[in-house]
Amino acid sequence: MAGKIIKAPRGTQDILGTDSYKWQFVERLALENAGLFGFSEMRTPTFEQMDLFKRSVGDTTDVVQKEMYEVRAEKGKDLYGLKPEGTAGAVRSAIENNLLKGALPLKVCYVTPCFRHERPQAGRLREFHQFGVEMFGAQSPSADVEVICVARELFQMIGLKQVMLNINSIGCPTCRAEYHKALTEYFRQYQDKLCTTCLERLDKNPMRILDCKSTVCSEIAKGAPVVLDYLCDDCKEHFEGVKKRLDALGIEYKIDPTIVRGLDYYTKTVFEFISGDLGAQATVCGGGRYDGLVKQMGGDPTPALGFAVGLERLLLIMEAQGIEIPKPETCELFIASMGEAANIKACELTNALRSEGFYAECDLMNRSVKAQMKYANKIGAKYTMVLGESELESGIAKLKEMETGTEREVDFRADLAQALYDITIERATEDLAEEFGGEALASAMGMKR
Ligand code: ATP
Ligand code: MG
Repeated sequence: MAGKIIKAPRGTQDILGTDSYKWQFVERLALENAGLFGFSEMRTPTFEQMDLFKRSVGDTTDVVQKEMYEVRAEKGKDLYGLKPEGTAGAVRSAIENNLLKGALPLKVCYVTPCFRHERPQAGRLREFHQFGVEMFGAQSPSADVEVICVARELFQMIGLKQVMLNINSIGCPTCRAEYHKALTEYFRQYQDKLCTTCLERLDKNPMRILDCKSTVCSEIAKGAPVVLDYLCDDCKEHFEGVKKRLDALGIEYKIDPTIVRGLDYYTKTVFEFISGDLGAQATVCGGGRYDGLVKQMGGDPTPALGFAVGLERLLLIMEAQGIEIPKPETCELFIASMGEAANIKACELTNALRSEGFYAECDLMNRSVKAQMKYANKIGAKYTMVLGESELESGIAKLKEMETGTEREVDFRADLAQALYDITIERATEDLAEEFGGEALASAMGMKR
């Protein structure tokens, strides 16, 4: 029975071969760059117990209240959630695997899919990807700055322009108590105007109202007291320490007292990297400290902090700024063949080339030589070679450079890989000579005239 075509879920996207190299590029850069700061990759499950997210992300946040995907096995009774972010799993894993009893600070990083049931739009998906880092055990402001530097360095390596760093401090539970009182008083004046979710938040978690996306609530929030005015001495000193270090390292930033972040676990320093190339979804990276979370999740009290970069948004900025990502190499050699014996020989030769690290292909479709050449053209093969009866007999075939049409004879029974190496080097030398002039090239290679 011919079925109706099933489409991918709304808010998800396929990353096809025409784009996957871009993902590989940014993911590799992100992990390598983090490696230079001592972060090693950690992979945690795509789903976790629902309670993990309720307790860490917070059950008065938008993420938990409105955006979670729940998962239940058909026959199971346990409730799981697809991860909406990476920190909860990393904290769980660090505690469960006793990593916090090893060398501190512990530095981990990850690339992970995340799931949030939001309204899909440019830069906002229901399945998206984050690159994130988490650092455990360090309470010094230097740690905050190092974590900020990991993101900043990545953006610089990629060549992003105009990505602005905004920072704020949202204090600790001590100073937060005073602030909550002031906030509750402020918002109570408007209680008949707030949305129903925020009305509930008024007593439970008034800071969440500052993060509400409804126009009425966000308008009211504009006049709310700011947390920076309520910091205790310890939090004030920490924030001064962060600013002093950012200044010393020549890192530009703005203080934005309205950043509160959408997840409950943050304390003290919070920060965002913002780009003008993203439209409404301007935040490419969000992060901060979460000094209370490890204890809250059952571990020993351990200060911690981290950030997450949205990879879709990162790629959107790169595209908007015309940043080129190196394209994967195309096929070096397509070996066409006529007849079964030649086809078998072609298979053997392509396999040998692959073991030498060359990208090679041969016919798998039983096509005519003409159709094989058409395919070779389509995949952008740099060289082609046709094997027929006479080539099999003599062991000599013509190697054709597709771009120029020039042909040369090669003995394919001898070392075909070596022949390709020689040609590649010859071509590279010609390119260099063209670019820099023969003399410059000769001197660069240490040759005397
Ligand atoms: P926003 O305010 O844009 O909703 P957020 O505060 O919910 O972001 P975080 O939870 O801090 O985002 O996640 C870190 C990063 O992950 C964001 O800065 C963004 O780049 C990316 N991100 C978050 N939600 C989405 C989404 N639905 N689609 C694509 N990227 C996202
Ligand atoms: Mg959000």
